[in-house]
Amino acid sequence: MIIDLIILGSSPYEFDFTLAPEEIDLDGEDAKLKRAARVAGKAVKHIAQTDVEGTISAELEIECTRCLQPIDREFEIPFKAAFVTPENYTQAKEAELNAEDLDVSIIEGNEIDLTELVREQILLNLPEQVFCKEDCKGLCEKCGANRNLINCKCEETEIDPRWKGLKDLFN
Ligand SMILES: [Zn+2]
Ligand SMILES: [Zn+2]
Repeated sequence: MIIDLIILGSSPYEFDFTLAPEEIDLDGEDAKLKRAARVAGKAVKHIAQTDVEGTISAELEIECTRCLQPIDREFEIPFKAAFVTPENYTQAKEAELNAEDLDVSIIEGNEIDLTELVREQILLNLPEQVFCKEDCKGLCEKCGANRNLINCKCEETEIDPRWKGLKDLFN
């Protein structure tokens, strides 16, 4: 989805569109879209700057930090971005520092790539840690088994070396 700044008038341009999973490349982030993401908002063109704001609604499949199993999560990501001409970039960057959730970019070639903006916003909002359940037991460090599903016994053998002799006796 591209906004062409040459044909964009002075009145706000409202958009509401969907992006299919294959249109957003989250490769290497251990995350992918479960279904099309919806993006709704508006773009307002000023002299040296175009403001874009809206909300992304997406369902993502991400990995549990502990056991690496896929988990589905719904995200509602509000965003606010300013696209400025190269001459105004330094000044706008200062404004970005003062406004916490504002994202400032340079306009390249008179167009704004909303797909790229959406991709960046999703990446920024991916949680650093996410768990499939609060008490996820994670993977066994020894054998790699998912300890939520399998009781692999590695830990027991590790914890009780005292019994090893006795076990050998029985074997
Ligand atoms: Zn887990
Ligand atoms: Zn194990």
